[in-house]
Amino acid sequence: MSRSAHPAGPRYADLLPEGHYTAPPADLNHLDDKVWARTVARGDDGVVTVGGIEVTRLAEEFGTPAYFLDEADFRARCRSWADAFSGDADVFYAGKAFLSKAVVRWLHEEGLNLDVCSGGELITALDAGMPAERLAFHGNNKSPEEIERAIRAGVGRIVLDSFQEIVRVAHIARGLGVRQPVLIRVTVGVEAHTHEFIATAHEDQKFGIPLAGGQAAEAARRVLGLDSLELIGIHSHIGSQIFDTSGFEVAAHRVIGLLKEIRDEHGVELPEIDLGGGLGIAYTSADDPREPHHIAKALREIVTRECESAGLRVPRISVEPGRAIVGPTAFTLYEVGTIKPLEGLRTYVSVDGGMSDNIRTALYDAEYSVTLVSRASDAAPMLSRVVGKHCESGDIVVKDAFLPADLAPGDLIAVPATGAYCRSMASNYNHALRPPVVAVADGAARVIVRRETEEDLLRLDVG
Ligand SMILES: *Cc1c(COP(=O)(O)O)cnc(C)c1O
Repeated sequence: MSRSAHPAGPRYADLLPEGHYTAPPADLNHLDDKVWARTVARGDDGVVTVGGIEVTRLAEEFGTPAYFLDEADFRARCRSWADAFSGDADVFYAGKAFLSKAVVRWLHEEGLNLDVCSGGELITALDAGMPAERLAFHGNNKSPEEIERAIRAGVGRIVLDSFQEIVRVAHIARGLGVRQPVLIRVTVGVEAHTHEFIATAHEDQKFGIPLAGGQAAEAARRVLGLDSLELIGIHSHIGSQIFDTSGFEVAAHRVIGLLKEIRDEHGVELPEIDLGGGLGIAYTSADDPREPHHIAKALREIVTRECESAGLRVPRISVEPGRAIVGPTAFTLYEVGTIKPLEGLRTYVSVDGGMSDNIRTALYDAEYSVTLVSRASDAAPMLSRVVGKHCESGDIVVKDAFLPADLAPGDLIAVPATGAYCRSMASNYNHALRPPVVAVADGAARVIVRRETEEDLLRLDVG
C-alpha cells in the first residue's frame, strides 16, 4: 500500500522486515524493554507494573482506555538528548507528538527547548511557563494572529515556510518594532522513512521552500533584505521514524551547500542549521533505534565534514525529536470486551478504545505490539487482531499480534510505545471521550490530562 508521507508518521508497514510476526514470540509474558517504558516490569504475581504501581490498580482508579506515561523515563530521555547535544547544539522537543502543561514543565526543568506549530500549542507552552525565547514556531500556514501572538510573546525563532510568510512575518514584526530571529525551512529533495531514504524528486509536498531552482537562495536574499527579520539559519526536516543517518547526510550536504551560496553572495555565514526530527523508536521488537549520543556524534561528523569542504565555520546544530522522546514513555491500557475467533483467519479482540485514541494504525499502517498485562498466562499463542469499538472496519489498533489463547473479557491488555501521536491525534469519533494521560512516577500516579466527559461533549454542542 502506498500512502503519502506525513511529518507525524511514516508509511511504516511498507518497509517492515520480511518475516515479521510470522512466528509467535517464545514467551508471551516477556516484556521487551525496547518497546516498554523503563520502569515497566512484571511482578511475581504476573501483574505488570509501571513506576511501581500495578496496572490493575491503575485501571481501577483511572479507568480504561487510558494512557500511562512513565515520568522517570520521559525525564531520562530528555536528559540523554540534552547531554548528547550539549555545547554546540540545541534540542527542541516537537510538541505535536504530545504536549501538556506537565510535559512543558518537565522539558523546562530538563533544559530542552520546544517546537510549537499552532496558537494552541503556543498558549500551552507559555501558560506552563516555558520562556518564549526557548520556543520555535513552525507551520506552513500560520495565521497573522498566530504570528502576532508569537512575536509579541517573544518566541526565540520563527521558521519561515513560504515566500508569502516572509512578507507576512516581516510586516508584523515591523509593526511591533521587533527584529524577529527566523530560519528558512527548505526542502532538500530527501524523504526518509525507517530504513530507507529517497534522495530525488521528493519536493512534491506542502512544507518548506525547495532548494531546487534557486528558490531557497531567493528566499534567503529576500529575508536578508528585510530589516525586521534576522536570518539565523536554515531548517530541514526530512521525514519520520528514521533509523539511520544517511538521509541526514544528504540533507546536511544540501543545506550546507546553500549556506555556502549565501556566504558567497552576501558575505554572511549563518550561525545555525536545524536538521529537524524524525528519529525512530521501537514499536515492535523488530525495530532497532539508535541512542541519542550515536545520532549526535554522526550529525556532528557530517556537519563538520561538509563545512570543512565548503570552507565554512561549523554552525550550531539543532534537532527536533518528538517521537524519540515521548513515544516509548507511554502505553495505552485497554480492557478486553469481546473475543471473536474467525476460523482459519485470526481472532478479533475488541477493546474499549480504538481509532479515536490511536489513529496511526488506520492512517499509516503503523505496527504496534500488544501484551496481556493484568496476569501472566501459559496458554498457547493465538494470532490476534486488536480492534476498537468504532463503526469502521478499519478501526484496528494492532494488526497482527499474538495473545494467549485463554484471553477473556475483562482482561487488561496494553499497547506500548503510544506516547507520541496518539493522544495528540485523538478524536471524538462516534462521540468517544478522549482518554486521560496519567503520569506515573515512584509509586504515585497523577492525571496530567483528564478524561473527557459527556458534559465536555455537550458543552460544545450549542443546540
Ligand atoms: C513532526 C516534526 C518533528 C518531529 O518529528 P518526530 O518524528 O516526532 O521526531 C520535528 N520537526 C518538524 C519540523 C516536524 O514537522
